[in-house]
Amino acid sequence: MSFAIGLKCRECGDTYPAEARFVCEQCFGPLEVDYDLVAAKGEVTRESIAAGPASIWRYAALLPDPGTTPVDLGAGWTPLRRADRLGALLGLKELYLKDDTRNPTGSFKDRVVSVALSSARRLGFTTAACASTGNLATSVAAHAAAIGWPSVTVIPSDLESSKVAMTAIFGGTVLAVNGSYDDVNRLCAELVSEHPDWAFANVNLRAYYAEGSKTLAFEIAEQLGWRTPDQVVVPVASGSQLTKIAKGFREFEELGLTDGPTPRLFGAQAAGCAPIATALREGANVVRPVRPNTIARSLAIGNPADGPYVLDEVRRGGGDIGSVSDDEVLECISLLARTEGIFAETAGGVTIASLRQLIARGSIDVNRPVVAIISGHGLKTLDAVVDTARVTATISPSLAEAEAALTAHHSEVLS
Ligand SMILES: *Cc1c(COP(=O)(O)O)cnc(C)c1O
Ligand SMILES: [Zn+2]
Repeated sequence: MSFAIGLKCRECGDTYPAEARFVCEQCFGPLEVDYDLVAAKGEVTRESIAAGPASIWRYAALLPDPGTTPVDLGAGWTPLRRADRLGALLGLKELYLKDDTRNPTGSFKDRVVSVALSSARRLGFTTAACASTGNLATSVAAHAAAIGWPSVTVIPSDLESSKVAMTAIFGGTVLAVNGSYDDVNRLCAELVSEHPDWAFANVNLRAYYAEGSKTLAFEIAEQLGWRTPDQVVVPVASGSQLTKIAKGFREFEELGLTDGPTPRLFGAQAAGCAPIATALREGANVVRPVRPNTIARSLAIGNPADGPYVLDEVRRGGGDIGSVSDDEVLECISLLARTEGIFAETAGGVTIASLRQLIARGSIDVNRPVVAIISGHGLKTLDAVVDTARVTATISPSLAEAEAALTAHHSEVLS
């Protein structure tokens, strides 16, 4: 049973029933799902949660009502791994990686899509849709296929080939737009008015969609033994994930489910698209849109919808936001793979490179626990690494050639 009671404006606090609405009638501010945490207190317990399924739906009480059954491919309950080898290299005493590469379609977007499409089905929509930088489209197309819904996903035309294939394979309509993600997003806002029965996960269903990200905070706290971490590093595109991770930790604290500090949140952006990091550095309250130019395509949103809220959350805890070059992103994809055996997409490289930068800048307390969120699988952005991740040598099936290649490689490694 869900303790959601409706929607609430994030600006003026006006309230609405839990229906298909995404902007406030009073002030045009964005809406979010509101819960009766007073009623939930004592009802939602560590035991009741632990008795639930090994997916985001163990937290159903603190998610929007999914109707009779959730739209569920098994998103969430991904491993939280202690990362001592990478931690030691970075100078951290206690580093954990939240390995969200291990979701049904290989990214954290399965969390938000499972929640959005469950609400969409409950509200009577009949088609799944989204504006996407790639991973969202894949997840929407997969979840729609699994419930027999048509899907319409809209992406920039120059996305990574693996992301395009991973979306198209599910059989929905994929519209590739000659333009940036911000152009895609504008087009989808127009499509929403033309097709009122289409559920755009991150447009007209955005209030519901966003709630899925809270499960990252819930899982991290539960997996640490119902203890909050001191510091969490989060990749930032629209900023929805970061703001809802903050909301998730607050809800658990209000319910008395966790011990530990209020986590300080840190953002991670690519320098080629770092509008929120720039605003933070300049002390600005508004986020000036940029034209993205980075290999971290999943984070390439130049005009982030949740930008000001990210600034609030990061400032509130005395956090910071990293901004890293594409070379650092590639270097850190490989660093993560070589030290921890996790192959992340470019967004994961942004997170690890930002973590390293924030440590160097003194923003992160190296003696206190840190959790870094690895939000997408490396197979999604193979294009980014094919030039650097190569075979050691190509040889004939001959022992002599094998030994010669091994010797040559050995001396190369030692030199
Ligand atoms: C979408 C996405 C994010 C962050 O998204 P927000 O829009 O900030 O919620 C992070 N990592 C990956 C891999 C993504 O696809
Ligand atoms: Zn309002």
